[in-house]
Amino acid sequence: MKSDSVNIIGAGQCGTLTAIMLARHGFELNVYERFTDPRIRDAEAGRSINLALAARGLNALQQVGIDALIQPMLVPMRGRMLHQADGTTSFLRYGQQEHEQIYSVTRLGLNQVLLGVADDTPNLHLHFQQNAIAYDAPDRTVHIRNELDGSMYQIAAEPLLAADGAGSIIRRSFDGTGTFGGIESLLAHAYKELSIPAGPSGEYQLASDALHIWPRGGFMLIALPNPGGDFTLTLFLSTAGNNSFGQLVDEAAVMRFFEEHFSDVAALIPRLCDEVLHHPLGILSTVRCRHWHDHGNVLLIGDAAHAIVPFHGQGMNLAFEDCVRLSEIVDDLGGDWPNVFARFEAEQLANANAIADMALDNYIEMRDTVRDPKFALRKTLSFELERRLPQHFIPRYSMVMFHAEIPYLLAQQRGEIQNALLEEFTRDANSLAEVDLPGAADAALSRLSALKP
Ligand SMILES: Cc1cc2nc3c(=O)[nH]c(=O)nc-3n(C[C@H](O)[C@H](O)[C@H](O)COP(=O)(O)OP(=O)(O)OC[C@H]3O[C@@H](n4cnc5c(N)ncnc54)[C@H](O)[C@@H]3O)c2cc1C
Repeated sequence: MKSDSVNIIGAGQCGTLTAIMLARHGFELNVYERFTDPRIRDAEAGRSINLALAARGLNALQQVGIDALIQPMLVPMRGRMLHQADGTTSFLRYGQQEHEQIYSVTRLGLNQVLLGVADDTPNLHLHFQQNAIAYDAPDRTVHIRNELDGSMYQIAAEPLLAADGAGSIIRRSFDGTGTFGGIESLLAHAYKELSIPAGPSGEYQLASDALHIWPRGGFMLIALPNPGGDFTLTLFLSTAGNNSFGQLVDEAAVMRFFEEHFSDVAALIPRLCDEVLHHPLGILSTVRCRHWHDHGNVLLIGDAAHAIVPFHGQGMNLAFEDCVRLSEIVDDLGGDWPNVFARFEAEQLANANAIADMALDNYIEMRDTVRDPKFALRKTLSFELERRLPQHFIPRYSMVMFHAEIPYLLAQQRGEIQNALLEEFTRDANSLAEVDLPGAADAALSRLSALKP
């Protein structure tokens, strides 16, 4: 089946970038989005939620020439600033090369740029306030409600890309059919966004070149800088039990909790009680599917196919990588959708599962393992091995964040071998001087094959 026109549900990051890429291949694109155009919503509606952009996302934006438009919105973060419970801080670089940094970018700003480019792309039509209600598999149609006038109509899935996010209505319409075999696993922890405004002269009140973490064992607070001098914070807590959102029921409880666990930052959050008590509670889930496509009719893409928890800062980066992969396959196969979708799934599904696992691992690392003094030593040793053996040993974090050419699955597999090696060679050491470096280098050479240049 070949079709010159493609329908997409969802004008988020993945749906919009995919639409731009496919329209440039010459297809006719229609994108249906349930909400109003974020470029014309009032500023209050779009709070400054920010995301970490890394190599895979940047690579995708470069491919369509959007990187230059995004550049002024990026705030570089070179590493993690750890704020310990006793008030001390330490800075751990993410990578050892100058360019190895990640970038804080506001979700709203990025989406606005993508939509602006989509608007300027021939053959691409954006339809806002068009809400997909259900997918009808026998008829291969999506039922859409026009939120402007309440009318209903149908569009054909010939083909349809479901880029409608973690709670995808298209994916859920297939529940019980075994087509996708989607499983949504809810994390027992949820999140709320808080904010630190810029100082009186517009200055940052914390170091602006870091992602700040207050690791507290079973929970944590993080902060990412915004271009205007302010920070967006995210508080991650379990929903019930000790030190949970369930306990933060009034101002006294919020103040007590922050004084006990985050006293150094509480004073920088002027609307602390209001934000903790009234900001919406966000849930976090992992979506895993057995399949992502229904022959040549429907393809799940982005969070709809594989939502992951945000602790590796990779959900959007993975979604953008999906767009690149799909575009490369279309380059090869054109509009032969059954084969395009099958190849996309074959190439990308195992990678999505791998980063889903690594994102869950990283939650333990961010809130807990970073507090272990051996964590810094293992990091130092991993940089030393990378310096000595750049073809054999690249720290797992660097493979995920800075090496778009290394598939997530390979990063996960090599990361497991490397982690065992780092633990082995730091077990009896308290500093790099005490590590058997020649032994560690020999072990790396024998256990890890050379990466392709
Ligand atoms: C707290 C938090 C922090 C995060 N931090 C990072 C980070 O630092 N780095 C990173 O890479 N990723 C991060 N992520 C993940 C990232 O936000 C997502 O992976 C990414 O936004 C997925 O893009 P998407 O286009 O697939 O889905 P979405 O951005 O969810 O877009 C889906 C679109 O579909 C529309 N839609 C939904 N249902 C319908 C319907 N029925 N009809 C029509 N339209 C519909 C929605 O309105 C939306 O516009 C974070 C996520 C969370 C929750």
